[in-house]
Amino acid sequence: MSTAAIDLRSDTVTRPDDEMRRAMAEAEVGDDVYGEDPTVRRLEEEAAAAAGMEAALFVPSGTMGNQIALHLHGRPGGEVICEALCHVVKHEIGAMAALSGLLPLPLSSPWGLLDPAAVEAAIAPDVSYHSRTVLIEVENSHNMAGGTVYDRPRLEAILAVGRRHGLPVHLDGARIFNAALALGTTVPALTAGFDSVMYCLSKGLGAPVGSLLCGRRDFVTEARRVRKMLGGGMRQAGVLAAAGLVALRKGPARLPADHENAGRLARALAEIPGIELDLATVRTNIVIFRLGPELCAGSSATFLARLEEAGVLGGPVSHDQVRLVTHRDVERAQIDQAIEKIQGLVRVAA
Ligand SMILES: *Cc1c(COP(=O)(O)O)cnc(C)c1O
Repeated sequence: MSTAAIDLRSDTVTRPDDEMRRAMAEAEVGDDVYGEDPTVRRLEEEAAAAAGMEAALFVPSGTMGNQIALHLHGRPGGEVICEALCHVVKHEIGAMAALSGLLPLPLSSPWGLLDPAAVEAAIAPDVSYHSRTVLIEVENSHNMAGGTVYDRPRLEAILAVGRRHGLPVHLDGARIFNAALALGTTVPALTAGFDSVMYCLSKGLGAPVGSLLCGRRDFVTEARRVRKMLGGGMRQAGVLAAAGLVALRKGPARLPADHENAGRLARALAEIPGIELDLATVRTNIVIFRLGPELCAGSSATFLARLEEAGVLGGPVSHDQVRLVTHRDVERAQIDQAIEKIQGLVRVAA
């Protein structure tokens, strides 16, 4: 990979900017396992407020945040109702089974958006020979479905199913700020009613490291124990939290540029023969498309290898699907260059 490559693999590839690096260098720190890091505490307070939740816990990764929540809501042998392509199933290395004895009950859903009636129908019957449903899990925005978003009415209906059946509902809101922007609403309006919410500072918000697990105060107190159990207790973590505070305060305001860039990229790609892209799925900063047989024989691996030779990096979703993600470290001009390079590649590879 050349250093000049236009990197559209993920919004996790951003490097901390000057303001973040300064904040890290100047951070006031203490031992956070003793609860003595003032910068981590400030981040946890501001992050809880930003999410409209009572309390928050700073965790090293979104995966750890999700897994702590699953561990606390579930119990071994229990089933977690979730969407089939969700992160906790596809990208967390089987952690719910390995660490908490939980079984996913994945529901394939159009655009990656769970249907409240299907969720209710999937709840296990209360009989002695069936595993229990212990949790409903929702991902907003939905990464592998193309950054699609749940609006409040759909969330409301899913939360109502949870309440009717006495089930907790966890939100994987890794990109909840993107979802709020796409829907023209606020983050608290999308998190209201959830028992726990995880969101990432290290995606579009631009921090180098870190996520938050939010919930009621007693839940977060328990989450702190599980974080330590999993090896996620960090000592002078204020150096990371300082960058996180910059991301939390400044990051949301620049997400519109990422969404505009993704829309621009998607509209251009949708015109290219051999690229199958439903523009209605492109709501946030993620663009997923399918390759027809006429382009690189429909192989995402071949397409991505040629793309890399042309200086653009993307990622595979499946054998014939590709994902491109916009973020702070790619500007409009580079998006236009990426479009030109893909158009050029298609002329050669068609
Ligand atoms: C990135 C992501 C996470 C967390 O990923 P980490 O790499 O562990 O920080 C969780 N859920 C979704 C939907 C994500 O996209």
